[in-house]
Formats: sequence, structure tokens, C-alpha cells
Amino acid sequence: MALECSLSALTNLDQTDPDAVQALLQSCTGALLSPTLWAWTLGITVACALVGAFIGMAKGRWLAGLVWGVALGPIGWLIVLFSKSSLPECPECGRPNVPSAKACRHCGINLRAAALKSKRARLKSNDSGRGW
Ligand SMILES: [Zn+2]
Repeated sequence: MALECSLSALTNLDQTDPDAVQALLQSCTGALLSPTLWAWTLGITVACALVGAFIGMAKGRWLAGLVWGVALGPIGWLIVLFSKSSLPECPECGRPNVPSAKACRHCGINLRAAALKSKRARLKSNDSGRGW
């Protein structure tokens, strides 16, 4: 007796008939162990991981994007998309740049000179604020 693994088969199952229960169990086990199901599951998981890593790369957090993509799929993509960027921000325009960048790719200022200038400005303001 071949039963199809479905909710209606489970609802209509005669629980007093051990052969019917056994047949439904075997049918459902076979469905869950299907290579096609596992290939789709693996493919979708890898696709979610790659999309998450791609979104994370734009924020300098590709590994976080990959993990969120694997764990939560499209919800993980949104988490990475709306998370704060780990890339250094330009002191002039505030937009992210790659860590090795010499000039801001958005406004074009020299990032090293701007960073030194802002550090000096910070030290100066701390010094003048707490003098004797
Ligand atoms: Zn800039």
C-alpha cells in the first residue's frame, strides 16, 4: 500500500491500523530523504550566503553578511543592509571608504591629511578645555 506523505493522508490516517501508520511513516521518511529536496535546500542556502556576503562586502563586513544570510536568508540580508558600516568614514563628507584608500572616493580629499588634522584638532580642543 503506497501512501502519499501529505497533511490529508495524516488527517485521514486510521491510527489503529499499524500497517497504515507504518506505510505513511515510510512514505514521509522517503520524502524527507529525497536528494532533490536536499539539493534545493543546499542551493538556496548557498545562494542566501552569497547574497549576504555581497551585501556585507559593501559595508566591509562580508563574513557577517555571509553568516546572517545563511542563518536568516532575506531577513539576514536586511539586517546586514541596515547595519553600520565597519569601513572608515571620511572626516569631510562622512561616507565610507576602503581602509587602504588615500583619497576619499566620494569627495576626493586626502584622507591621511584629513585624519591627522582632525586628530590634532581633537587634541587641541581637549587641551584647551581642561587647562589650569
Ligand atoms: Zn569624503
